[in-house]
Amino acid sequence: MSNQNFRSILTGSFSTPCADNPTVAMIEAAYHHAGIDARYINCDVKAAHLADAVKGALAMEWVGFNCSLPHKVAVIEYLDELAQAARIIGAVNCVSIRDGRLVGDNTDGKGFLASLRDVIDPAGKRVFLLGAGGAARAIAVELGLADAAHITIVNRDPEKAGVIAALVRDNTRCDATTGGAWAGKARIPEGTDIVINATSVGLGDAQAMPDVDLDTLVKGQVVADVIPNPPMTRFLREARGRGCTPLDGLGMLVNQGVIGVELWLGKTLDAGVMKQTLRDIFGASDA
Ligand code: NDP
Repeated sequence: MSNQNFRSILTGSFSTPCADNPTVAMIEAAYHHAGIDARYINCDVKAAHLADAVKGALAMEWVGFNCSLPHKVAVIEYLDELAQAARIIGAVNCVSIRDGRLVGDNTDGKGFLASLRDVIDPAGKRVFLLGAGGAARAIAVELGLADAAHITIVNRDPEKAGVIAALVRDNTRCDATTGGAWAGKARIPEGTDIVINATSVGLGDAQAMPDVDLDTLVKGQVVADVIPNPPMTRFLREARGRGCTPLDGLGMLVNQGVIGVELWLGKTLDAGVMKQTLRDIFGASDA
């Protein structure tokens, strides 16, 4: 009998379409770097097959999987338990399988916060948040749980901003309000410590920028963008030029991977290897 072990730990992702999701390359590079015999399998799972995919992961004794569009809400009915943030946000993007039980968490906002904490502690800070989609919702809830003092949420559709503000007020100690409908240039309120673009503006377009009055940015503010590609968005370049501290969306993506694998394997992967893998894929520079 051989003492060798030919059985890999199985992890992966369920979404559709999935072919443009680089998470598999990022995580497998870090598994390899750490000498962990694990695989991350990027699966195209259509909505009608989500239940079967979840059963398959259980049957094959996967230790966990990510869920991306369109499964983040639909997957909840197949889970045994939800972590606090996933319950408040109402969406799951990371499922751990332990002793046959499925536990759902949401690492979107946690990944952002881990990245943010490299430059500023959000506790007691005032935040201006652009956008009210899934990313903004997860970020707002995690900022609330991290004891940010106040969040102003601005969105083209103000009702969506109002829903997130209420979610934060009702579930955390943070105060949150909407800045009304976003029409014309958004003005950043005085006293803001952290500005976040959580809209999809800038994705795949180095010249696109959310409609913000750049003259209301203040030197020393942290200005963050969720856009991972290109990482140095025009919004961040403009902010950097005004003496603000820019924070790109690559860190959010990398930290989500780190946190997911910590939940699945109890091991912390090398964030530097993961970030470099994404930079190579995106052909990114800091210019
Ligand atoms: P959603 O579709 O849920 O939300 C999109 C948001 O962008 C909405 O608030 C929408 O406003 C707003 N928006 C879109 N176009 C415009 C525009 N022209 N002007 C102003 N606002 C606009 O997407 P997600 O929240 O899931 O994702 C948002 C971005 O975050 C994506 O680009 C995604 O790539 C990125 N992301 C990055 C992650 C990372 O790890 N770095 C993780 C998750 C997401 P309205 O409601 O009015 O339509």
